[in-house]
Amino acid sequence: MESSNDTLKVLMASLQRLLKEKVGPQAGEIDRTDTFPRDIWRAFGEIGVMGVAVPEEYGGLGLGFDKLCLVTREIARVSGSCAAMAFSPLFGIYLLLHGGASEAQRRAWLPKLASGEEMWSFCLTEAHAGSDAMAMKTTTTARSGAFEVNGVKQFISFAGEATKYIVVSRLPQVEAAGKPVGIVLIDANAPGLRIGKRDEKMGNRGIPSAEVIMEGVRIPRERVFGLDGGARELFGIIVRRERIALASWAVGVAMGAFEYALNHTKIRQQFGRPIFEFQAVQMILAEMFIGISSAIGLIDKACACLGRDEEYGEIYGSAAKALACEVVVEVTGKAMELLGGYGYMKEYPLERMVRDARGFPVMAGTGEIQKWNVARNLRHDRYRF
Ligand SMILES: Cc1cc2nc3c(=O)[nH]c(=O)nc-3n(C[C@H](O)[C@H](O)[C@H](O)COP(=O)(O)OP(=O)(O)OC[C@H]3O[C@@H](n4cnc5c(N)ncnc54)[C@H](O)[C@@H]3O)c2cc1C
Repeated sequence: MESSNDTLKVLMASLQRLLKEKVGPQAGEIDRTDTFPRDIWRAFGEIGVMGVAVPEEYGGLGLGFDKLCLVTREIARVSGSCAAMAFSPLFGIYLLLHGGASEAQRRAWLPKLASGEEMWSFCLTEAHAGSDAMAMKTTTTARSGAFEVNGVKQFISFAGEATKYIVVSRLPQVEAAGKPVGIVLIDANAPGLRIGKRDEKMGNRGIPSAEVIMEGVRIPRERVFGLDGGARELFGIIVRRERIALASWAVGVAMGAFEYALNHTKIRQQFGRPIFEFQAVQMILAEMFIGISSAIGLIDKACACLGRDEEYGEIYGSAAKALACEVVVEVTGKAMELLGGYGYMKEYPLERMVRDARGFPVMAGTGEIQKWNVARNLRHDRYRF
């Protein structure tokens, strides 16, 4: 029997090969053309990238959430956009594992998420409900024996490519209990669901982003999670993982930029020596390294708290997300400067990394919201060093 260490080794070897032979060479083109690379999605599916955190009994590799973060980070070193493919399955996986899904639903869908046959998109943001997500207007109401969803979500990653949409909505049926959230699962081809305006993004290109419009979309009761009032808790479980994985994704981009710049400083000669030899350059590289390593440490701490110490762990997830997103902006900017004029030219990957970096502080809750969440936990002494 293979141990999880062996499984991870095999996965990482296949992944490194794929990154070298396919993802790396295509990364610039994906960015330039802003086209979703289905061939890479399929190749990731074949080696198990999307099934890293899916338990083995449901067709995944069963390596756990921390390895989902690791794999996301490794891909991000080469292509920030392609790392979204390793990151995105977490929404479906934790919805099904923790969301009161039936065993039949888990057996039906988790293997498909693991293989990449299905791709699920997470729909929370609305035009007037971003940081204040609970101001959302999308509503799921009981109507003649089923449920009906109405609303418009925006900035939705993978919109148009996804096979299902996980939609966070108001659920008036449980609103009386003070827990107004429901999470519903809608097929991409459900009547009444359509994709609206597609966004032209600065970075993270190749991963589509668009409005998801729902007008009278009918879904059966078993596609509504949280009818017992538990969706708020489920929402917490999902977004806590989202923040940490996103931090890891951001750190991967920072690592890629750092390594590219470090290598350049050792080769690039000015004033008769490699620019690495100048102490001012060394200080910059040292600061970049310290930032990246600190963020990795916080991510590891946040991962370690998940599941067994969630109450105390939440603060670390938000702290990790806030730090990693500052680090990636700082490090990619510095890396670009260390390349001089080359860093500014599209022929080199640094300017793409700088643009990719800018999305991280916004996605999955801004830096201010994460720090607010840190403070909220501090108010109740929910931390442990
Ligand atoms: C590349 C990308 C991919 C995305 N993918 C998805 C996706 O797949 N699904 C999805 O649902 N959403 C997605 N989003 C949306 C993202 O989650 C939101 O953009 C984000 O939550 C911020 O919301 P907003 O844009 O409305 O900004 P706002 O909430 O309007 O914030 C604007 C500014 O005000 C600040 N601010 C707001 N409230 C406070 C406060 N109380 N205290 C201090 N400062 C505050 C913010 O920090 C920010 O600086 C994506 C966004 C991007 C950029």
